[in-house]
Amino acid sequence: MKGIGASPGIAVGRVVIHWKEQIDILREFVEEPEREIGRFRTAMEFAGEQIRETYSRVLETVGPGEAAIFKSHGLMLRDPDFVGQIERMILDESINAEWAVKTVADNLIQIFESMGNDYMKARSDDVKDISDRVLKLLLQVGGVDLSNLGEKSVVVAREITPSDISQLDRDNTLGIISETGGKSSHSAILARTLEIPAVMGVRDILDYVENGDLIIVDGETGLVFINPDEETVARYEDLLAKYECFKKSLSDIRGMSTVTLDGVEIELAANVASPKDLDDVFKNDGEAIGLYRTEFLYLDSSLLPPEDLQFEDYKNVVEAMEGRPVIIRTLDIGGDKKLDYLAIPEEENPFLGYRAIRLCLDRQEIFKVQLRAILRASAFGCVRILFPMISSLEELREAKKILEETKEELRTEGIPFDESVQSGIMVEVPSAAILSDYFAKEVDFFSIGTNDLIQYTVAVDRGNEKLSHLYSQYHPAVLRLIKTVIDNGREAGIWVGMCGESAGDPKLIPVLLGMGLKEFSMTASSILQARWIIRNLRKSDLEQAAEKVLSLPTAEDVEHYCTALLQSLNLCR
Ligand code: PEP
Ligand code: MG
Repeated sequence: MKGIGASPGIAVGRVVIHWKEQIDILREFVEEPEREIGRFRTAMEFAGEQIRETYSRVLETVGPGEAAIFKSHGLMLRDPDFVGQIERMILDESINAEWAVKTVADNLIQIFESMGNDYMKARSDDVKDISDRVLKLLLQVGGVDLSNLGEKSVVVAREITPSDISQLDRDNTLGIISETGGKSSHSAILARTLEIPAVMGVRDILDYVENGDLIIVDGETGLVFINPDEETVARYEDLLAKYECFKKSLSDIRGMSTVTLDGVEIELAANVASPKDLDDVFKNDGEAIGLYRTEFLYLDSSLLPPEDLQFEDYKNVVEAMEGRPVIIRTLDIGGDKKLDYLAIPEEENPFLGYRAIRLCLDRQEIFKVQLRAILRASAFGCVRILFPMISSLEELREAKKILEETKEELRTEGIPFDESVQSGIMVEVPSAAILSDYFAKEVDFFSIGTNDLIQYTVAVDRGNEKLSHLYSQYHPAVLRLIKTVIDNGREAGIWVGMCGESAGDPKLIPVLLGMGLKEFSMTASSILQARWIIRNLRKSDLEQAAEKVLSLPTAEDVEHYCTALLQSLNLCR
């Protein structure tokens, strides 16, 4: 069976099914709604206590970034709007607390899910997690004891929540499989941090497995084998041994430089969405921040974040990096990231619509506030400014003009900033890649955004699960565009980096290196693996391989070639 590889690694073990109790909630009329409110408040209090305990446990055993999930659960539990709606419903309709909790939570879940983006889907998982907890307390039913599995197991569930993962028996959990969920759910993030291999979104797997079945989890490819034949088991046990040896060798790489066997220095940077992600950056030895996705600061607010708040946020990151580069991307809103408080009318094609730099150039008052905050933060370290979604030179020129006006304002006000601050563009629209020779003359750097570059080059919505087979980082057309951008950057004497997911793909790293990419920015947890690969490569040997890739006609051919290349370099996965 196949699902989504949500946390890398391999597990071979016996199945333990985590049946969530099917809680049937009925609408009941109650004589004394005040009593129901009392029951509801007691359940909320207990839930709050449980969440606080989980928070402390995760903080101690995993880290502050992951514990933050439970902090936000605690906040949501105290959210006056959420609580108020439930209590009002109990009183107005004289109904049982369980029904009110379920109805209000289901409503919220539906709203979040209809927003159709991964971030909001994660929020809906949070609401599910919290309401399940409160419902269990109201109904006084317990769950399966995930904290004591007894023997080494692969947990298979319909749904696995962040709370479930935080409780997992760490010594005995070999892997996780769930029918729902995807790569960017909080559960997937936690599984990755705990380094538990996980495959999510395996449809109907519970119809095919029994407790005690032998199962293989391949967290990288998303493949799951139920009661596999001996040959498959032997193949995966071999891979597992290699993977274990590889993981061990990774910890030795901390503190080492990222340099190829023939002395080419590469910068390995991290993508972050908030100062909370810095712990992961340091844990994984990130050498810079290659992409700070500032839109999450806007998404986490109920109104536009003011200049001072943005300044503090950026300054925290810049200071924490102690002089190492921090590339701050200006607001990249729109597409799958909507800001409700901007009240932007619905569009037929949001990914092709009013978003990112287009919105900022139209709403310059918003853009200027952010540029002021970024420039002010530049006085505290090495800041670089990155404009997203640039598709024409006119847009770039307009953005730079506003940047210069903002600098002038700060000078007049006597506010310090780094006069030599670099500015560059995301190359994520094919027109920018094709015209990169012109763009290269007007920017300090390029950062290739493959996530969008792929979707716009092959005309496949990056979030559409039905078309995921067409959305490939190995598509030769995408690779040709990447090569064009790198060549044009080199010719103009500017540096070229990449902050799309391709930068952290072990199979693509050798060819990207061969093409001359200088900076690779990725999820922090992929950094050590990337360094290990790069330290084992000789750039001069890879130039030919990069040429060869560009002559291949299909994504499948490219992927085969890249896989074989990685294997021939004698690197285990
Ligand atoms: C990209 O498009 O490759 C990118 C890094 O930006 P985002 O994923 O935030 O669109
Ligand atoms: Mg993008």
